[in-house]
Amino acid sequence: MKSFKKKAKQTFGQGGPKNLIFAVIFFILCLGLLTKLTDYTRKIVSYNYSEFLQKVEKDEVKKVNISGQDVYGELKDGTKFETVIADIPQNWDILKAHNVEFAVANPTGNFSLWHILLLISFLMTPLAIWYFLRQAKNSGGGSGGGGIFSMGKSRAKLFMPSTIKETFNSVAGAAEAKEELKDVVDFLKHPDKFKRLGAKVPRGILLVGEPGNGKTLLARAVAGEANCPFFSVSGSDFIEVFVGIGAARVRDLFAQARKVAPSIIFIDEIDAVGRHRGSGLGGGHDEREQTLNQLLTEMDGFETSPDPVIVMAATNRADVLDKALLRPGRFDRKVEVPYPDLTSREQILMVHVKNIKIDPSVDLKKIARGTPGFSGADLANLVNEAALHASKAADQHLVTVEDFEEARDKMLLGKESKTKLLTEEDKKETAYHEAGHALVRLLLPLNSDPLFKISIIPRGMALGVTHYLPEREKYTTTKEEMLAEVQSCLGGRAAEELVFNKLTTGAYSDFKKATEIVRRMVCFYGMSERLGTAIYSSEEKYSQRTAEKIDEEIQRILDEQYKAAMKLLIDNRDKLDKLSLTLLEKETMFAAEIYELLGIEPRADFKLK
Ligand code: ADP
Ligand code: ZN
Repeated sequence: MKSFKKKAKQTFGQGGPKNLIFAVIFFILCLGLLTKLTDYTRKIVSYNYSEFLQKVEKDEVKKVNISGQDVYGELKDGTKFETVIADIPQNWDILKAHNVEFAVANPTGNFSLWHILLLISFLMTPLAIWYFLRQAKNSGGGSGGGGIFSMGKSRAKLFMPSTIKETFNSVAGAAEAKEELKDVVDFLKHPDKFKRLGAKVPRGILLVGEPGNGKTLLARAVAGEANCPFFSVSGSDFIEVFVGIGAARVRDLFAQARKVAPSIIFIDEIDAVGRHRGSGLGGGHDEREQTLNQLLTEMDGFETSPDPVIVMAATNRADVLDKALLRPGRFDRKVEVPYPDLTSREQILMVHVKNIKIDPSVDLKKIARGTPGFSGADLANLVNEAALHASKAADQHLVTVEDFEEARDKMLLGKESKTKLLTEEDKKETAYHEAGHALVRLLLPLNSDPLFKISIIPRGMALGVTHYLPEREKYTTTKEEMLAEVQSCLGGRAAEELVFNKLTTGAYSDFKKATEIVRRMVCFYGMSERLGTAIYSSEEKYSQRTAEKIDEEIQRILDEQYKAAMKLLIDNRDKLDKLSLTLLEKETMFAAEIYELLGIEPRADFKLK
């Protein structure tokens, strides 16, 4: 999370009030000119040649000013007029005959004062625009130099390989993320090998996770491992008040990156440009779309370039991104960068205490245990704060447990509102809840989606999650599969009731999901004996009585499945306890660990993986 602070400044910048005064004066001037000009033109009447001749014949014309074929003149009653005359010498005779004063001017020579002012203001306009552009640019804090000529230049910072110290060793924990990114490193190092083998080459990688969990660090580590140049930019750097600038910057950035390819472009906060199109709030919205389109165009153009440019982008809002960004060939790889679990927290602490002198008695595992919900950045900060605290004592040379305690308490006070710090009781309930989901799923012999991983690390609003794999599209789903799904949904609540004998609100979304599945079974798929095979697709088509019957039937099926889940858990209470307590300890468990712990034979579809 590096560039939050900058955003606000980027439109009109430090020069604020002074610029405003300039702008106001300039606009008043323009306005004045404009009104004068229309004023001036309004009073001039246009005649055609014959009208003009008539006026002359009738002695109405006082004087004329002839410049080439253009004539500007004044009638005796003061009316100003203009006309175009034929290029014939007889004109002079006619004018002379009727006593019209006339003057002949060089075709370009008859500018009035207003013409001159107008010309000046025309000349000034680009100057003024240039001035504003330069202001806007300077305020963005980009590299120095060139006014209008560098507006469209990317603001990315370039790091050459020799300056990148990070490698995968600098990133503690995050094993899954590193595993996925190894491919990318390999590709950057040996692009020919990939192409020769016809392997699918990575182009765009989306790093998804809350701030401070090491997305930037991971991206830099990839550059460090592959020993290639690294361009770093924030999504918000592309967005300017002027439409087209963002797109130009994207173009420039990719052009630069291609020059030094193989290289990596890292775009932090991609959501600033990548929000789905048509969702803009107020201004800057066309600009954002153009920028996004340019980004897509550049990524599609990778096909043709011999040396790879990899784009890595970070966000904590993958849900708001434009679907077009996630299509194959664009950001088609998603790497989750979650809050670190217990083991990862310990490893992150280990990385950061290398820089300080620490009392050998400090048990990092214990500190890790006391910091659930801390991000990698929080942990780095914790070590720093502890060292600071230690340095305040005059005679202390090592950082002790007490310093860590102090630092943690200080941070927690500041964090309280941001992170839900769970009590032991909360954590235990969450562990049982998630274990309930997982266990029911494992014990049912049915072909429901296989378990992937469970976690009790809080994420956003949720206290814990059970992940299933794969979330594949299934075209047919049997009644048994749907019921298994429902039972597993209800297993969380059942476990809580069984163990703590109390009901919490934590199961709301589970109930919602279970109810939704059952409603589909009853209403759309004719899977209920009582209501038969009729389809009840919309409210109007059936009576109040039928509606009640549907609700009763849904309730009955839910109750039945809840009881079934409960029975399964009672019969396997030992497994439930074992799983919950281990989960409480480890915070995250993968399917393989769970199978091993419980001595359950992995299902066929798991073994295939
Ligand atoms: P993000 O980009 O996700 O907001 P950063 O990569 O900027 O997070 O992380 C901020 C800092 O937190 C890093 O510079 C590093 O000091 C520390 N950090 C975060 N995750 C880890 C990790 N897995 N291992 C070691 N340090 C980490
Ligand atoms: Zn649940």
